[in-house]
Amino acid sequence: MKAAVVHEFKKPLHIEDVEKPVPGHGMVVVKMEASGLCHTDIHAAHGDWPVKPKLPFIPGHEGVGIVESKGEGVTDVKEGDRVAIPWLGYACGRCEYCTSGWETLCEKQLNSGYSINGSYAEYAAAHAGYVGTVPKGLDPLEAAPLTCAGVTTYKAVKVAGVRPSDLVAIFGIGGLGHLAMQYARIAGGSVAAVDLVDEKLELAKTLGAEYLVNAREKDPAEEIRRLGGADSAIVLAVSPKAFEQAFRSLRRGGTLVFVALPADNYVQIPIFETVLNGIKLVGSIVGTRVDLSEVFELHAAGKTRVIYETRKLEEVNEAFEEVEKGQVKARLVFKF
Ligand code: NAD
Ligand code: ZN
Ligand code: ZN
Repeated sequence: MKAAVVHEFKKPLHIEDVEKPVPGHGMVVVKMEASGLCHTDIHAAHGDWPVKPKLPFIPGHEGVGIVESKGEGVTDVKEGDRVAIPWLGYACGRCEYCTSGWETLCEKQLNSGYSINGSYAEYAAAHAGYVGTVPKGLDPLEAAPLTCAGVTTYKAVKVAGVRPSDLVAIFGIGGLGHLAMQYARIAGGSVAAVDLVDEKLELAKTLGAEYLVNAREKDPAEEIRRLGGADSAIVLAVSPKAFEQAFRSLRRGGTLVFVALPADNYVQIPIFETVLNGIKLVGSIVGTRVDLSEVFELHAAGKTRVIYETRKLEEVNEAFEEVEKGQVKARLVFKF
């Protein structure tokens, strides 16, 4: 089967013929229809983070396709089902995190396209207990971005505790951001969208953002404080500077949600202002299986819009470049 493989960090991916996976115990093999390009795949291929994937590997954790075969012990998923392969590829199911609805914190977790091969391939093996069920009638090309960008930002809005009267600042209107702002609005909040690229802000406007700030032209913190300050700020921009601006954009009692994972791993947050202003700092990692099913449910009900363009898997290196240069409207999806 054809796959995009990372052999060396920061080097182009190779499109090559690799052996088609066979489903082990508790696993399924999925014939891919669509696979979204998350910025995390770029970090993975660059080896940007303190914990690096083992080389070589196949990236991709927004995979949607049809179950082609299943291994022993698989009972709730069958051949022909349309499923989604998310970042949380496996968790133990027994630890304190797994049994309290926080399987995304399981210490034994495996991550698709990182510690196990992902969806940049014609077929991918996945643990049956951790694939999402894609509702009937949902377009696989739209389901793909929901599988990470959707579930991650849906969870971020949940942990931000957005309430109907809130002003929510969304830093970075990319693949994640264009969905984050929709969930913030579904929760009843008003949105201040921040990006460096005017086209992204235009998109935010068409998706209902009440305020737009181009951070190249104006200090977003100052602009948002002029509106009274944000009740929460969700940072999806791949830049420590955006985290610092987001912090300064908050009103007293506000919540800063860390989601983006820039290679440059540190931010400077002042202690005095955090304490005196009662600021909450929260890290948020993807979402659970329940979050993903809620994300699909909202989309099936027509409450969200997924903005995407398709690419061929062979165009993976050009696609990475487009994302890094901020030239993509929202999400790129490899169509198989
Ligand atoms: P993306 O490239 O599609 O979007 C990033 C957006 O941020 C772009 O629109 C870009 O123009 C904008 N931006 C860059 N610098 C900015 C700045 N200084 N101020 C304002 N906007 C700026 O990326 P994505 O796929 O949406 O992913 C975003 C980040 O989230 C990545 O670091 C990714 O690894 C991370 N991520 C985290 C989780 C999680 O669970 N925490 C899940 C998925 C992705
Ligand atoms: Zn992702
Ligand atoms: Zn566990």
